[in-house]
Amino acid sequence: MTDSPKSIVRRTPWPESSSRAVVTPLQPSVVYASPSPSALDDQYEGRAKGFTYAREGHPNAEVLATKIDALEGAEGGLILGSGMAAVTAMFFGLLKQGDHVVGGNQLYGRSMRMMREELPRMGITTTLADPTDAAAIEAALTPDTKLILLEVVSNPTLRVSDVDGIAKLAKERGILLAIDNTFTTPRGLVAYDHGADIVLHSVTKLLAGHSDATLGYIALHDPVLRKRVYDTAVTLGLTPSPFDCWLAERGLYSFELRYDRAEENARKLADALAETPGVRRVLYPTRPDHPDHNRTVALLGDRGGNMVSFEIEGGRDATDAMVQAAPNIAFAPTLGDIGTTLSHPASSSHRALSAEERASLGMSEGFFRVSVGVEDVDMLIAEFRTAIAAAMDAAGT
Ligand SMILES: *Cc1c(COP(=O)(O)O)cnc(C)c1O
Repeated sequence: MTDSPKSIVRRTPWPESSSRAVVTPLQPSVVYASPSPSALDDQYEGRAKGFTYAREGHPNAEVLATKIDALEGAEGGLILGSGMAAVTAMFFGLLKQGDHVVGGNQLYGRSMRMMREELPRMGITTTLADPTDAAAIEAALTPDTKLILLEVVSNPTLRVSDVDGIAKLAKERGILLAIDNTFTTPRGLVAYDHGADIVLHSVTKLLAGHSDATLGYIALHDPVLRKRVYDTAVTLGLTPSPFDCWLAERGLYSFELRYDRAEENARKLADALAETPGVRRVLYPTRPDHPDHNRTVALLGDRGGNMVSFEIEGGRDATDAMVQAAPNIAFAPTLGDIGTTLSHPASSSHRALSAEERASLGMSEGFFRVSVGVEDVDMLIAEFRTAIAAAMDAAGT
């Protein structure tokens, strides 16, 4: 392998090796050279496998998709540039002007904005309804309803949707059911097993798990619909970065270990918070005092997930003091990181709402959401207790 000075601009071949790398290679190539026009024909006609242009697909996305497919029991899942890219590809790939969509009324903030602002601009009407009540979803359906979008566990009040009731309804009416399984993950619920036609993820969160890659995933049962969503995604340019796919694949190897540990931590933290002075209430789906406890047990068994919400006494003085007294718990608006993160809906995700609207959703100033990580749980509980005690001092209670 010798390069002459004249050929310096030509690519140098990859070094030969009789041994092979253990780790998946990172392949950032935007474009793939074909041996001949006939070979390219074979590829485009599906007679041969191969890549052409990264916006249409690349090896790192395919490796990652195959792994998430295995978790979801799906085939041909697509990796896109973000969770919202998956939501976008679904809506714009499957719907047209005049169609109607029903969504849960506590969807992820940007999915809600998609329903309230973006789809109506395109002539697609939408209704948000309570997903814990199949009758409320049924009442929202119209003859033009083509799709229902649900999350299993809502953000941030952790209400559990009536997935089975709504799936039955969707099937009877011939309406597509899409489940955004980001919070619950296939470890908690396999969406296809519960009647979903479409399953979506923000891979950014628990699946990748390290807050260093922004990606989405979508799988569709029906290959015709899958092709439509694929073409829309490629046309809209919702391409994932190979490096992000590579990072997410690495994260995914430990997903089940991380999820199980974080879930066990969350259950223990929820129980400890419930006993902590200054805590008004704790929300965790498998706790007997959770408003959807029975449905949680029927739907998810003991898989309560890694998210815990709780409310402390006091106002902004108390919430500021609590965050400041927990310097090792990142006060950051995300979830699913290996480390525990804390968010405060009143000053972040739900700040656009009035205090009255937030109160009606059960989110006072003292309301926090915790994405529990894989730390030592006793350390975590001690950190929260210290922080809440500081909050109560600041509030003078
Ligand atoms: C974060 C999130 C999304 C959006 O994902 P991004 O990767 O941030 O675009 C969608 N749905 C849920 C439930 C989420 O938590």
